[in-house]
Amino acid sequence: MTRVAVVGGGALGVTAARDLAARGADTVLYERDDLASGASGRAAGIAYDAFAEDVDATVAARAVERFRSLASEGAIEFVEHPYVWFARAGDDPRATAVRESAQRMRANGRDVETLDPDGFADRFPALASVDVATAALARDAGYLDPATYVTAMGERAESAGATVETGTPVRLAADGTAVETPVGTERFDAVLVAAGAHTKRLLAGIDTPIPMKPYRVQALVTEPLDDHERVPTCYDATESRYARPREGGLLVGDGTQEREFDPDDYDEAADAEFERASLAWLSEVRSERTTDPEIARSWAGLCTATPDRDPLLGEVRGGLYVATGWHGHGFMRAPALGERVADEILGGDGVGPFDPTRFDGDEEFSVVEGMTVDD
Ligand SMILES: Cc1cc2nc3c(=O)[nH]c(=O)nc-3n(C[C@H](O)[C@H](O)[C@H](O)COP(=O)(O)OP(=O)(O)OC[C@H]3O[C@@H](n4cnc5c(N)ncnc54)[C@H](O)[C@@H]3O)c2cc1C
Repeated sequence: MTRVAVVGGGALGVTAARDLAARGADTVLYERDDLASGASGRAAGIAYDAFAEDVDATVAARAVERFRSLASEGAIEFVEHPYVWFARAGDDPRATAVRESAQRMRANGRDVETLDPDGFADRFPALASVDVATAALARDAGYLDPATYVTAMGERAESAGATVETGTPVRLAADGTAVETPVGTERFDAVLVAAGAHTKRLLAGIDTPIPMKPYRVQALVTEPLDDHERVPTCYDATESRYARPREGGLLVGDGTQEREFDPDDYDEAADAEFERASLAWLSEVRSERTTDPEIARSWAGLCTATPDRDPLLGEVRGGLYVATGWHGHGFMRAPALGERVADEILGGDGVGPFDPTRFDGDEEFSVVEGMTVDD
């Protein structure tokens, strides 16, 4: 029986652990805190299949399928909700990018429609005051509470026979196929490092560099608002801000800082300036507002960047696998990417374009935020 260690109990790690165990691998998942205590528990929980690249589109469609399947079993609540993204009047480069990316998504078989300003205002009266140049609408989209997915998959991993060790920080042993836990060293046939923003640091400990940089993003949730359900999940490409209904109010996100952050030393609270700008943006875009919102809570978390904005997923050296570099789209793709890396560990092909060995590991690059309409 293949023995596999999974390091990290976020959305990726629990999915891989569940799928490895379900396929007969003797699987141990190590999480240093609680499940979902990293980026997964801080995510906005937005999911859609609207990707312009064919591999991304296939992966995202499979992920949405798995979210729906878990929801049909009653394990999570996946709220079907359209996703619309738009460029504002005067922002010609992004308007062109919205149109072109929607076209490429349709070519990949995605259910994506382009909307002109009137079509946008008719379809989404709650946002009708936005002066859009062009918009695109994806119907295969929804949202969920990200922590409930991690919990549900963690339980399924255990039901399938995996051992889930929370409160267990590990380091990698020199050859990459053993982990050092607080009580000793455990050997495995394969080790998957899905430790989120800590992944690079763990691998650096055994001289295996990867080109990944953690960067900080922010979100807030407002107190309840009358119009929350009429607001679609939306991304304002011109203002670089997104929203979706959450807890009776609206979640607003972004506040991205395009530089590398230390995963052991970053501010987990949102900045006052992010909060101010997000509330101002809400006042501007909500055409049916009767009141201005109060902030219920806000926070910051880390996403992970790579030089080409594609993930690092697969075997990085004999028996050592890595899963990181999601550019802010790790939660919505985790059900599929966890499945794919589990398959690779058990002898499958992996996802060619995401092969981590396409880089040497010491590449210089700048952090570029993940939510854009440029690709
Ligand atoms: C504010 C915000 C909003 C976001 N919104 C979305 C969204 O709507 N949709 C989307 O797709 N993505 C979103 N993201 C990105 C998403 O959260 C991440 O891409 C995804 O959750 C990464 O999952 P992961 O399993 O790879 O990593 P993580 O969830 O970070 O999990 C890694 C785990 O490894 C553990 N760990 C670290 N070091 C060790 C160690 N030495 N030993 C054992 N365990 C260790 C950590 O404690 C952590 O639990 C958002 C992120 C943020 C911060």
